[in-house]
Amino acid sequence: MAISRMSRRGLIGLALAAAAIGCAIGSSAIGSVRLQADQAGGAQNQVRILKVRGDVSLIQTPGGNVTVLAFPQGVTLVDTGGADTADQVLSAIRSLSKQPIRYIINTSVDAGHTGGNAKLAPVGIQVTGGNVAGQVGTDGAEVIAHENVLERMSARTAKPAVPAAAWPQTTYHTDSIKLSTLYHGDGIQLFYAPNAHTDGDSIVWFRHNDVIATGDVFSTVAYPAIDVDRGGSINGVVDALNKVLDIAFPDFRSEGGTLIIPGHGRICDFADVAYFRDMVTIVRDRVQAMVKKGATLEQVKAAKLTQDYDPRYGSSNAFVEAAYRSLSKGKK
Ligand SMILES: [Zn+2]
Repeated sequence: MAISRMSRRGLIGLALAAAAIGCAIGSSAIGSVRLQADQAGGAQNQVRILKVRGDVSLIQTPGGNVTVLAFPQGVTLVDTGGADTADQVLSAIRSLSKQPIRYIINTSVDAGHTGGNAKLAPVGIQVTGGNVAGQVGTDGAEVIAHENVLERMSARTAKPAVPAAAWPQTTYHTDSIKLSTLYHGDGIQLFYAPNAHTDGDSIVWFRHNDVIATGDVFSTVAYPAIDVDRGGSINGVVDALNKVLDIAFPDFRSEGGTLIIPGHGRICDFADVAYFRDMVTIVRDRVQAMVKKGATLEQVKAAKLTQDYDPRYGSSNAFVEAAYRSLSKGKK
């Protein structure tokens, strides 16, 4: 197993109690936690809990989706939301399971997905194995991510600085890793999505529950956020979406089947991802055609290449700029 780095506690458990925003699939809200008024902005945020399938629930937060697997021995999370909602996310997890948080998987380095680590990891308890009998560890949940997430979080230049308690202790550098059913309540596989949203993206597949958490390569509420400065690229996002479709099983006429939790937005299925993949690919090809003709970024933006999708996904300025930058790399 390619688990390495600072920890050799490679026995990874995952509890996922995630709830997702309802859609045509028929999920239903099972609870919500009203957040305190944000002191900085005065806005009322809301954390929402939705049942996904089996042991999996979704906690929606303003920072991003938190997927929860609740199994008899513990809880495994995919992402933790932003720092400002960590207390509410913890309350939501406690409403789903009284067991300790065992594992936290981060889909990328984004603060909206890892900001809750510093609060949620220390209150967890790792599962220990090998020569260690029983649970002797009280040093928090084990955080798992691609090694580039650790590189960026622990960099001296990281702004804002990320406390060490939030860093991954277990990382991988291969195409994928498998986490055992024994310690996670499900067979979980992480797939690395190179140079997509960032250079440290993971797609997380819960094979027995038949659920995929995609992180920020997929959204139902916005164009994909592509962080070119942190290694992201539009072609990497297309590849990542195709990877999700490779793993997922559609049911009749592409509806139902594998349930797919995006980084932001509602619970989805195969057809939703295919639609989004097509949109990203179409916009990519439009931008590519102008890049080949030598167009400047200003000319590409002025061409309104996303006009037909803007009513659904909102402002495309950042998306188009990221597409242009990643497609024109190496050009003069
Ligand atoms: Zn996000």
